[in-house]
Amino acid sequence: AEEKVSPHVILFPFLAHGHVPAFLRLAGLRARRPGLDVTLVSTRGVLSSLSLPPASPPLRLHALPFSPADHGLPPGAESLADIQVHQFIIFFQASESLRPAFEEFLTGLGSRPPVCIVSDAFFGWTADVARARGAPHAVFLPGGAFGNAVFFSAWEHLPHARTVADEFPLQDFPGVVLHRTQIPRYMLPATGADPGTAFFRRAIAFCLQTDTVLVNTVRELEPSDLDMLRRSLGVQPWPIGPVLAAPALSDSRGDASIIRWLDAHPPRSVLYISFGSQNSINADQMRELALGLEASGRRFLWALRPPLGSDAKGAFDPEWLPAGFEERAARASAGLVVRGWAPQARVLAHPSTGAFLTHCGWNSVLESLSRGVPLLGWPLGAEQFFNAKLVAEWGVCVEVARGNLESSAVEKEKVAEAVRTVMGENATGEEMRRKAAAIARAMAAAWEAPGGSAAESLEGFLRCVEASVR
Ligand code: UDP
Repeated sequence: AEEKVSPHVILFPFLAHGHVPAFLRLAGLRARRPGLDVTLVSTRGVLSSLSLPPASPPLRLHALPFSPADHGLPPGAESLADIQVHQFIIFFQASESLRPAFEEFLTGLGSRPPVCIVSDAFFGWTADVARARGAPHAVFLPGGAFGNAVFFSAWEHLPHARTVADEFPLQDFPGVVLHRTQIPRYMLPATGADPGTAFFRRAIAFCLQTDTVLVNTVRELEPSDLDMLRRSLGVQPWPIGPVLAAPALSDSRGDASIIRWLDAHPPRSVLYISFGSQNSINADQMRELALGLEASGRRFLWALRPPLGSDAKGAFDPEWLPAGFEERAARASAGLVVRGWAPQARVLAHPSTGAFLTHCGWNSVLESLSRGVPLLGWPLGAEQFFNAKLVAEWGVCVEVARGNLESSAVEKEKVAEAVRTVMGENATGEEMRRKAAAIARAMAAAWEAPGGSAAESLEGFLRCVEASVR
């Protein structure tokens, strides 16, 4: 019999809140292979911010030195959540400085057991590192199949395109018709020479050298999208989703009062609002959204990050909201503004939560639909526009607005109407909830049912890796 060799799995997420926790959950694969070593590699700041559940064997951690100030970033900015949107590209470039330390770490490990590197697509260069060492390499995409396939394809073609019409089919996937407003600005023609485009070009070219791809989606929900992703990346992706936030991971003292507030309200009566961990709407949009919420007459819980252009970690300024907004909401028990971070996974799992106004970051989409909570979409960047399109096609999302540029005007009447539709006791609302509940069941089955697709994919991936290092 051949000896079975388990590789030492190195997990290397990008420095962002939508990425690190997803990789951390992937580290749970240790439970499936007794004796499998897993090391999570990141920066010291990111690793020390993690609240790791006790586990046996404990997850190994390795900190790489990273000095954001050397790159003109605020000292201590070790995550996209710590900086402003206009600094993202500098941060992406700065992240490439981790390469020598990452290589040094691998060298220190020696060759027994062999390593398998599972990295973020934004750390595409790790595929190059793996190839030079003859180590297997996988990209783990915390996003979904459709969103990533379209994102990769758009990057491939759009920056070279001479013009982009208002509506146009994608070159690789002519069945997918996009609108100009669904394309992040940095992907549009004539921006091809900027550093952001150059960074993504490098990252994607490296990603195309990877051996295999793990993707945070459910086979039953995205069968043809997985095929699109295979064509984009040239390898068969393993759908191992949903890789979901564990509600307990986001516990802090302020959380308890938010949950108590939810406890006090009837089932499905609260609209939860959040634009994720790193982006925001602009100041005009924020005021209009607030007015739209008041006009809707529905109860809301708003995790409010500073508007675009304000210090992401700065103090809360009441000027961001219409005069008296918070007081009126509190008096009528009509709403709660959470200044900063909300325990999102717990909020979405709470029976009082009836819908989620989201930027359609993929973690948010999964966390909501896994609880049968329908969506109002307001995509802001990256592949969020494509995620919003997908969930609208699934019949579980109404898109209320798009983007956070100055030109992206929002109308309070439109917000109010959409909120009433999705939260209401009407045919559309009922239908959306029914479809969301069916998606929630498919997500649960992917991990829990015998022969579930996620569990099967993860097993297939591990077997492939073991065969390649034998
Ligand atoms: N999140 C949270 N509280 C907040 C904002 C975000 O817990 O107030 C979590 C959310 O549950 C999700 C992640 O941060 O797991 C955001 O990931 P997503 O992919 O939705 O968006 P991103 O932040 O990457 O744009």
